[in-house]
Amino acid sequence: MKRFSIVSLGCPKNLVDSEYICERFQQEGFVLTEDPAHAELVVVNTCSFLASAVEESINTMLELIQDGKEVVCAGCLVSRYRQELLRELPEIRFFAAPGSYAEIAEAYLRGESYLAPVFGSVVSRSFFTGRSSAYLKLSEGCSNHCNYCLIPAIRGELVSKPFDEVIRESTRLADSGAKELILVAQDLGSYGKDRPGERSLVELVERISRIETVEWIRLMYVHPASLTGTLVELMKTNPKVCPYIDLPIQHVSEKVLQAMGRKGGAQAVKAAFDLLAPAAGEIWIRSTVMVGHPGEDDDAFLELEQFIQEGLIGHLGVFTYSAETGTRSSLMPDAPKRRVALKRKNRIMAIQQGVSKKRLHKMKGERVKVLIEGYHPETELLLKGRASFQAPEVDGEVIITEGGADAGTITDVEITGSHAYDLIGKIL
Ligand code: SF4
Repeated sequence: MKRFSIVSLGCPKNLVDSEYICERFQQEGFVLTEDPAHAELVVVNTCSFLASAVEESINTMLELIQDGKEVVCAGCLVSRYRQELLRELPEIRFFAAPGSYAEIAEAYLRGESYLAPVFGSVVSRSFFTGRSSAYLKLSEGCSNHCNYCLIPAIRGELVSKPFDEVIRESTRLADSGAKELILVAQDLGSYGKDRPGERSLVELVERISRIETVEWIRLMYVHPASLTGTLVELMKTNPKVCPYIDLPIQHVSEKVLQAMGRKGGAQAVKAAFDLLAPAAGEIWIRSTVMVGHPGEDDDAFLELEQFIQEGLIGHLGVFTYSAETGTRSSLMPDAPKRRVALKRKNRIMAIQQGVSKKRLHKMKGERVKVLIEGYHPETELLLKGRASFQAPEVDGEVIITEGGADAGTITDVEITGSHAYDLIGKIL
């Protein structure tokens, strides 16, 4: 029996695919090992969203080949650079594009070298690594077609997973020990729009919340133009839905949002914040912004800077624009110089650091529910966990200095202090 391992690069949506790929190989008799050093075959699930991700994906595979591993290249890199990869990297044993994974292990065993995507379904896996938190992908692809983004070209148009299938997968994940389900998609708010008569995201979340052992449901990635009042209402009233929304706005300047091709432009961003305004302080907003896109002049940047200073966003990711070949944005003139974009990124990050610091400082003395994740990586004297307003990996965490609890439990914690992005607390 061949031992295999997987390296999952990129976003949580890729992670879901990686678990599905693991399941496919295991069903064909391969044995999963966590550490690629102990495997003969390593599947690298790549990302090609940005030039830096392409570089990381290729370097990872080359290093594994140098270490004598047989490598399977899966993921977005295959969709974007199929011809070049097949030509330039013959040492990679097999290539599988997103949308082809149902057949991945069989095609590998048949000795094929490339497996083409068949867009039209969303992976639904039963294998789960048994953590207390699981990502659940509701759809594949995207039909929003922002000018700077390759996702629709790489992953195809929006394809939603059928409602009943989502419920079955949620139940399986809950039965395997997942207490937190993190719903992901390129745009959750578009869920079902490709399936006439399909039930809405709100109905779906409401139905998942009826699974007894699911304690937290987290919504990640809702395009501002897709946010609805009913979804906000659900977050306010259903105790299982985390008071948290990942709402990538990218910018606030109408001129820049038009150049980006963002659906609804600045009006959609404003409308989304208006919907969330009555819940300010209750619902935490996470967002991402992109600086340096063509059309972002000094005035447009100032507009963004002032908006971030208002402190409405609790967690923020800041990216610099990267002109990706094949996008409409890459053909546009007037992109700020790279050094200007980097300076702007640093400026926004500095403002947000102040916002976060102030906001977390005010929480001293509050009592919050925390999902304990285990020991702190620096010392076994401390535990670490996440409050319901903190998503894994991208937001801060709660560092527990007093009291004990098992990993995977949700427990009451009193906040005793804070850093710029992390909270400190003791178990009550
Ligand atoms: S919403 Fe825009 S940025 Fe996000 S995946 Fe779709 S096209 Fe890309």
